Amino acid sequence: MPAPQDRSPAPVLLVIEDDDTIGRHLDTGLRAQGYATTWCRTGSGGLAAARATPPDVVLLDLGLPDADGIDIARELRSRHPYLLLVILTARSEEIDVIAGLDAGADDYLVKPFTLSVLLARLRAHLRRLPAGHGERETTYRIGDLTLDTRAHKCLLGDVEVPLRPKEFDLLAVLARHAGAAVSREDLMAQVWDENWFGPTKTLDVTLASLRRRLQQSAPDSRQPAQAPSITTLRGYGYRLENERR
Ligand code: CA
Repeated sequence: MPAPQDRSPAPVLLVIEDDDTIGRHLDTGLRAQGYATTWCRTGSGGLAAARATPPDVVLLDLGLPDADGIDIARELRSRHPYLLLVILTARSEEIDVIAGLDAGADDYLVKPFTLSVLLARLRAHLRRLPAGHGERETTYRIGDLTLDTRAHKCLLGDVEVPLRPKEFDLLAVLARHAGAAVSREDLMAQVWDENWFGPTKTLDVTLASLRRRLQQSAPDSRQPAQAPSITTLRGYGYRLENERR
């Protein structure tokens, strides 16, 4: 039998819920409906999962063992502006719902709720999203630089910049946070491995070659495109920014 999401990829759905019964129920129920579901029991685990694979939808419990769900909602919203964020709360108090919506949630469900109600709400929300909404998060434009993470393509003006896989991934993380400082630890975790504790020389080497490739590609074009610069923040990390005034 064909899946409901026949041609477009299944929506990536992240469940952040510490309750075993509810979490498992959502995980299996949503999978059966064709959602590519990941289930995390903690706020920090949820944020890491969202970093690794930007989700289309997050179902977020407010009462988590390691964090306040409101803080997690705020963090998710700032990192993923186009995410559909639904809060799941056992607390029916109006104040929690308001705080959740103010923190960036699109909708909320008060527990207990049935899977069919949740599915109906998701369908209603996803219908209203413009087609291919997820692509907005996968194409970054910083000045003359265009980075299409779906096609794995980096363009400076109209010239394609050949990048090695790790150089591309590194640039993608910096582009996702363009204008903001990204720590070495975050870069190591997102580009190489979540559990990397080794020396970070490989980061410097990859970054140096990424800078070189961006600079070398720029002057070839007739109307020279300007590569955004990668600023070194000593003792912290790096920041990608557009220098054109
Ligand atoms: Ca809970």
